[in-house]
This record gives sequence, structure tokens and C-alpha cells, in this order.
Amino acid sequence: MFLSFYGAAREVTGSCNLLETAGHKILIDCGMFQGGEFNEQKNFEQFEFNPKELSAVVVTHAHLDHVGRLPLLIKNGYEGFFYATPATIELAGLIMEDALEVMIHNGIKTGALPLYGPEDIAGVMQQFKAVDYGEEFLLNDKANILLKFYDAGHIFGSAFAEINSEGKKIVFSGDIGNEGAPIVRDTENLPADTDVLICESTYGDREHESPEERKKIIKNMIAEAVGIGGAVMVPSFSLERTQELLYELNELIDRQKRIPRAPIFLDSPLAIAATGVYRKYTEYYDEDAERLLRAGDDLFQFPGLTMCETREESKRINQVLGPKIIIAGAGMMNGGRIVHHALRYLSDERSSLLIIGYQAVGTLGRKILDGAEEVEIKGERVKVRCRVRAIGAMSAHGDRKKLLKWINSGGSLPKKVYVNHGEPDASEELAKRIKKDFGVKATVVNRGLRVKI
Ligand SMILES: [Zn+2]
Repeated sequence: MFLSFYGAAREVTGSCNLLETAGHKILIDCGMFQGGEFNEQKNFEQFEFNPKELSAVVVTHAHLDHVGRLPLLIKNGYEGFFYATPATIELAGLIMEDALEVMIHNGIKTGALPLYGPEDIAGVMQQFKAVDYGEEFLLNDKANILLKFYDAGHIFGSAFAEINSEGKKIVFSGDIGNEGAPIVRDTENLPADTDVLICESTYGDREHESPEERKKIIKNMIAEAVGIGGAVMVPSFSLERTQELLYELNELIDRQKRIPRAPIFLDSPLAIAATGVYRKYTEYYDEDAERLLRAGDDLFQFPGLTMCETREESKRINQVLGPKIIIAGAGMMNGGRIVHHALRYLSDERSSLLIIGYQAVGTLGRKILDGAEEVEIKGERVKVRCRVRAIGAMSAHGDRKKLLKWINSGGSLPKKVYVNHGEPDASEELAKRIKKDFGVKATVVNRGLRVKI
């Protein structure tokens, strides 16, 4: 049995792992590389494997860095199935379509062709097969290769995947959720007797604030920013972060009245569509969200919240005077409607920028987070004069403590861990702690590494 790593190796994006077992090739995730032109160029490179030879593709969750290159598999001749949870299938459709729109939009300026066309996305959607959490699914009955998804508690529909083959249990973490995150359930325990674990390490060298602390920080940041009277910009990932933020705001503004009321705009068609999927799959809610739902609360709608789908609705936000909260994509400010708001409000001392998610190297969000005093947006130099605040606890990723706890949650430790999906320092630190705390072999993977397991 062989395992190869073709992305998210010493970086966070581009997840792509290949498992060769019992004469079959199974791909786990096929995501886009994001952040900076150089990195995004990698999306256009040929696959290191032949998509026609794959027997199955397993998809852990719908984030772009896990699903963004699935249509390329179809384009390159893959004819098999894609396996994912039902919510992941719906969300992945939205994400891939949005990615195509962004590529077409950017291509108008740069002349670059999109990676794939709508027919390739349609091909993926036709070939998706739903596998729910806990279901034991035979990927191949002759070869007896078994797939089982567990709730990763990361975003809606997210899973970590167990594959049983040749008497070995391999677990792919996908992305592991944050402790105590709203709406989604807690991460399930790692299966006992895991032989090989492929583990993400986005925050392998950091620890977040506690969930209680998180609420306090959000409340204070927003109350303060609204108090000053400017615009509060929140670049937000369309999946999970936006819904969690709405959920928290609903509680703080509507139920507890702990934040002064200010108009809130959700300025992202993708986030609005994704919220629709959250409304549909209420069976995935955690206990708190379920209780609120039963009590008749609309988790994602409250007085003062306006959903802006069209460009005209988005433009109208400019005309609203006084304090206002603008939640808009893209989450790392490398495109989307947030850029228009940044152009307008970054240089305004009374405005604020709240960063609530991971910012990849090379993105506008990362530059501002790292303290840039001036940035370039759409060819214009813009001074950063607004207040910039960041909160780690809103991340959809577990921190080091959570990852270590999860690795040790199965009743028995995994025999071997491969660490991926993290910047080099984060991956190295997590690997070091796995060795030190558990005495388990942990290797940080390089892109192209192929190991016998
Ligand atoms: Zn993710």
C-alpha cells in the first residue's frame, strides 16, 4: 500500500492525497492552491497521477482548497464517482461554481483561461455519491475497500475519512474543527486502532482563545467599532464562518441585546446560498442550535440584517451613513465584494477591519494582518488607517491543543502520523509534539512524497 501527497504539503492549500491499495488508486480531496500568484499557478500544472486510472475520489469537505480541482479530474478523463456527505455535495457545487465565476472574472483582466468549464463542474455533480456519517460504505467490494465518514466538526458536512483496506486502517483528517464552535457538532473521536493518520496542522503551533473568550472578544470588538461610528468590515469565508458569525450576532444583538444595534449587511451571494444549505440540513446541528430551532428562533435572520445578493444591493451599502457591519467575501480579501469595501474604508480612521479566519501568505488579508501600512488594491495605493483586529478563536480549525486531544481520542494512539495542511513551522511544531507527548512517529510531508505503508 502506498500513500502520496500532492498538495497541502508544508502549506495550507491544495489538499490532494493518493492512496494506492489492493490494485486501486483512491484520491482523497483535490483542492485548489490559493494565495499569491505563484502559488495559484500550481493549479495549472498537470496532475502527478493519471486521473483515468483512479478508482474513487473521496471528498472530506467543501472548502475550495479541498474541492477546487475536482472538475479538472473530469476534464482529464476521470469517469468514476466522488464520495461525500450530502451537505458537502451541495456546498461543493456552490463553491466550484463560485470559483469558476471568479476565474472568468479575473481572466477578463489577465487573459488567463479558467481551469475548467461549467460542463466539468456538471460532470462532478453528476458523479457525486452521498455517503452519510457513520455509514460503512464499500468503495470496492471485490477488493474489500471500506470507507467511513466521521463528523470533523469543521464546517457543515465536513468529515474525516477512514479507509480500511488490506487489514489496515488509514484516517485522513481533512480539516479538524475548533473546540466549542457553534452550530456544528463536536469532532468525533479518532477511530481506535488507526494504523496511519494523515493530520492537518493549520494551527499546529498556536492556541486559540476559549469559546467564552471568543464571544467576549467579538462582542467587545463589534461594540467598540460600532461605537466609533465607522464601517466594520468582516472578510468572511462563505462557509461556516459567516453562518457562525450570524449565529453569534443573532445571540448578542437580538437575544441578549449586548451590542448596540447597527445595520448588518451580508454582502455575499455565495454565503447567502450556503446559508440556505445550513437551513436545510438541521439534522447536523449541535444541541444548542437544535434547541434554538425548536424554540422557533431563526438562527440566521434577525432585525437589522440585510442580505445583499445583487450588485445594486451591494452598492447601496455605501449610502448607509453611520455605523454599519459589512460581512463580505472573500475570506482572505483576495477577491470578492470585500475588496470594494476595503478600497473605501481601509483608510478611514473610524472604520475597523475584523479578521476572523486564516489568511494565506500573499493575500491582501495577510498583508494587512502582518501590519502593512499601505496596500495596493485594483492598482490603487491605499493607506491602512482603520483599526485592524484579529481573532483566532473564530477559526474553523482546531488549535494545537485540540489536534493533540483528537489524535489521542481513539482509546489507542495511531501507529504513525503524517502531518500536512500547515505552514512549515506549524506542521513541524505539531509533529514534534506528537513525538514528544505520545512517542508516535510523525513526519511532515513534502509535496510529491510517496511512502509505503
Ligand atoms: Zn477546510
